[in-house]
Amino acid sequence: MFKSNYLKTIFILIWLIFPNYILAKNTIESARVWPAREYTRVTLESIKPISNDQMILKNPDRLVIDLHDIDLNDDLKNLSTKILSSDPNIKQIRVAKFNNQVSRVVIELRAESKINIFSLKPAGGYKHRLVIDVYPRVDELMALVQDKEKKDIPLSSKEIVPVTADTKKEKITQDIAPPSQTIKSINKKIIIAIDAGHGGEDSGARGASGTLEKNITLSIARKLKKQIDSDDQLRAVLTRDDDYFVPLHGRVVKARKLKADLFVSIHADAFTNPEAKGSSVFALSESGATSASARYLANKENESDLIGGVSLDDKDPMLAKTLLDLSQSATINDSVKLGNFVLDQLGDINDLHKSNVEQAGFAVLKSPDIPSILVETAFISNPKEEQSLNNDEHQEILAKNILIGIKKYLASNPNIAKNF
Ligand SMILES: [Zn+2]
Repeated sequence: MFKSNYLKTIFILIWLIFPNYILAKNTIESARVWPAREYTRVTLESIKPISNDQMILKNPDRLVIDLHDIDLNDDLKNLSTKILSSDPNIKQIRVAKFNNQVSRVVIELRAESKINIFSLKPAGGYKHRLVIDVYPRVDELMALVQDKEKKDIPLSSKEIVPVTADTKKEKITQDIAPPSQTIKSINKKIIIAIDAGHGGEDSGARGASGTLEKNITLSIARKLKKQIDSDDQLRAVLTRDDDYFVPLHGRVVKARKLKADLFVSIHADAFTNPEAKGSSVFALSESGATSASARYLANKENESDLIGGVSLDDKDPMLAKTLLDLSQSATINDSVKLGNFVLDQLGDINDLHKSNVEQAGFAVLKSPDIPSILVETAFISNPKEEQSLNNDEHQEILAKNILIGIKKYLASNPNIAKNF
């Protein structure tokens, strides 16, 4: 008797504190859409995991998702208003109550599409999420590469190959190519992959007045691309050019598919102490971090996949193998060299948070054959630096100095640059 009363009291207490969780149906608390050419993501955030069924129907092409134990509230209803007429992958979304237990979401597709639906556990301030990714049938990246090849003759000497362990071999073959090819490679542009950190669901760090790291990184990356492209010998490619999430290994894969010679990831740092300030530059380490703070930062940046939302199916076993097969030590030496030139240059326009390039296990820097650095441009958590990060002119200056650092590295590196 005593025991059952005791349990009853506990149950009532829990019910008073978390009424929704105990008795109510699952509830959609937010519905978001991230449209991009590469793919459009629809995210439904809820207090409990969403159980669901899906089917794909033709004429017109559409995806039907039945959400179980979900009431049709305003958050869910409003999903249909969030599809832009410019969305490249989704024409429209309709939401309706199917029966007492089920709400139905119908996603009308622009064309036959590849669909990936997966659930995410709570991470980075988000609750449970059901993610629906709609990809165009044509691989956007390959289309971009082919487009680039048509327009840009110097690039056409670079054959596009799938990411395999042979890629390294091919690079070596290029180095000892016969004279006619050597002339081609002298003329070819040096390709620099610019990686705007975070994006989409993953906002990155947030400044005191609400600035989101993902917006700052994209803005600086675009400016840097423009400056790079105005140099005849250089060409920049962006790993993302919009507000959507690209998984960390996806950024590495893109840079390699686009045959980048260098990789520069742009970020803005954050710390609990608002006084923390200055720029820093990082490279990959194969054997532990060079300091506790570098390890902390790498862990924080690597959380991007958890927060941004990566489906387990996304892990490309071929890529994992390639990364293990190839030694990175030579590339890491070059990365540190590149990092030092960029860091020196940033020291001219900003305080330096760290006076040397630090190393840790950053997932986004794991291209085995592309010198790669991660630039923390400044602290978004420092109100003064947040203000300058938002300033267009300052962003141009940051981009300019990163580019000067890159050029100095190229000039010092006869393997890549014949004309610097
Ligand atoms: Zn970041």
